[in-house]
Amino acid sequence: MKSPSQTNAIDFDSAKLQRLGFGQQQPSLERPLSLAQLRQQLSLQLQTSLEPQRILGLFFREIQRLVPLDALSYQHKSSDLRLEFGQRGHHSISYNLSHEGEHLGELVFRRNQRFTEQEQGNLESLLASLLYPMRNSLLYRAATQSALRDPLTDTGNRIAMDQTLQREIELSRRHLQPLSLLMLDIDHFKQINDTHGHSAGDEVLKAVAASIKSQLRNVDMVFRYGGEEFLILLSNTSREAAAMIGERLRVAAQAEDYEADGRVIGLTVSLGCSTLLPGESVESLLRRADNALYVAKREGRNRLAMAG
Ligand code: GH3
Ligand code: MG
Ligand code: MG
Repeated sequence: MKSPSQTNAIDFDSAKLQRLGFGQQQPSLERPLSLAQLRQQLSLQLQTSLEPQRILGLFFREIQRLVPLDALSYQHKSSDLRLEFGQRGHHSISYNLSHEGEHLGELVFRRNQRFTEQEQGNLESLLASLLYPMRNSLLYRAATQSALRDPLTDTGNRIAMDQTLQREIELSRRHLQPLSLLMLDIDHFKQINDTHGHSAGDEVLKAVAASIKSQLRNVDMVFRYGGEEFLILLSNTSREAAAMIGERLRVAAQAEDYEADGRVIGLTVSLGCSTLLPGESVESLLRRADNALYVAKREGRNRLAMAG
């Protein structure tokens, strides 16, 4: 008989992590450190997070044991990420971080004193420890963000909508600002599918989403609520202002030429609008917008109805 296999468990409590040098406390800046030591410590520390903010914050703090800095900024355009640490400085050096042809962002180091050649060499050497942690954190960020998007229309999905609605309602209450909702539904969309096919319908759906986004300042507030229904969240927007925006969306959707199956077609949309009441729940706010949309449909479509 084989003896049962042994499993060793190591519980890394905070005290142990602290002893191993993973603590959150400020490093003892007076202790001089060689480049090799710092690189080794960094490679361990930077593995402890998948958040770009935390990884770069640690990097900014730790490399100052060797190269004092006033500021560090980071930008990764394709994931719309910008981070700043510290204050501004007169002198700057910037580096484009890339690995095997993959762009991982641009870093700018700043300080009031010039960088010596040796310091530049050290910075370049230290940057290597940032490669894999940054690549992993960018992948992680892309994955978590795509979990919140509707891939067809590139709008927020229901998960994103629920989170954002909850947050915006809280903000609206705290700052005593109005919050309005628009629920938009394409008129007779089933006919478009029936006439031109489902994939033409998909293209039209994408074009409608693009039309909505092009009319709004904050495109993060557009969500796909259902098949051909969108929800637009209007923060700090009164009932009157929301009515104007809704009307603008209706007119824009109608003015556009859509392409279905190689032919140009027109369409219209209907909208329902509600504005948050004192103490109102998310469900009630959504229900009132939905009821208003139903009224817009019943009264002939291609119109906006306001919730009572
Ligand atoms: P109404 O003016 O009353 O809104 O009429 P309608 O035809 O738009 O409404 P209905 O709810 O009857 O039909 C919606 C259609 O939307 C039915 C469904 O096949 C279609 N649909 C839902 N999701 C998608 C999608 O992702 N792609 C495509 N092509 N069609 C979809
Ligand atoms: Mg419809
Ligand atoms: Mg519908």
